[in-house]
Amino acid sequence: MDKALTDTYRHKGLRQQLVNSLQQKGIYNQQVLHVINTVPRHYFLDSAFTEQAYEDKAFPIGEGQTISQPYTVAYQSQLLNLQPKLKVLEIGTGSGYQACILAALQVQVYTIERQKKLYDEKQKFAYLKTFKNIKCFYGDGYEGLPTYAPFDRIIITAAAPLLPPKLVQQLKPHGIIVIPYGSGSSQIMQRITKQLDNSLITESFENFSFVPMLVGKNN
Ligand code: SAH
Repeated sequence: MDKALTDTYRHKGLRQQLVNSLQQKGIYNQQVLHVINTVPRHYFLDSAFTEQAYEDKAFPIGEGQTISQPYTVAYQSQLLNLQPKLKVLEIGTGSGYQACILAALQVQVYTIERQKKLYDEKQKFAYLKTFKNIKCFYGDGYEGLPTYAPFDRIIITAAAPLLPPKLVQQLKPHGIIVIPYGSGSSQIMQRITKQLDNSLITESFENFSFVPMLVGKNN
């Protein structure tokens, strides 16, 4: 992908409008709104689609995958209740946009992608590489990252037909998983909180529409 890494006043203006629209839609976390205002979403799309980068829409990024809608990114980030330095595992790197939003929120990001081509692109993506607190992995998110576990937070950015048991194992007590749960055309956003006794509390939020979380790697 041709990524012209220039951020003009026009881009900044479009981004501010996007942030205003997210606020109107109910995003209230000021840190989340701030980082959406600072991370240039057009860097994550082909340069032909700069205008679309600041519409509140999902967008194709190749390999049949999408960059999530800004509202969805903001919503999931807000549900995570982040504080700087937490260890956060993301399932589904995709474009890397959500990973950069998390990194800008000053957490330690571990992100897994099952599509080799998307993973490889991230290795050459200069903007993503400016974040020293992002580690990218090629693998199957159902397996998590046992070597780096346990995590304070886990965010799944693909439609999960079940709560992956290994991810629950890799979550710290008091940790949170944000998961779009369901296998139909829409999923319910859930926040799962692990108690000290390892029992789970589930809260349900709005419906969203994600590409499926698939089993195994794809090269
Ligand atoms: N967070 C991304 C959203 C990408 S869409 C962004 O900000 O752009 C979801 C991504 O999840 C796709 O790239 C898809 O290939 C990936 N995915 C689906 N199943 C997966 C799995 N089991 N493990 C890792 N990634 C997976």
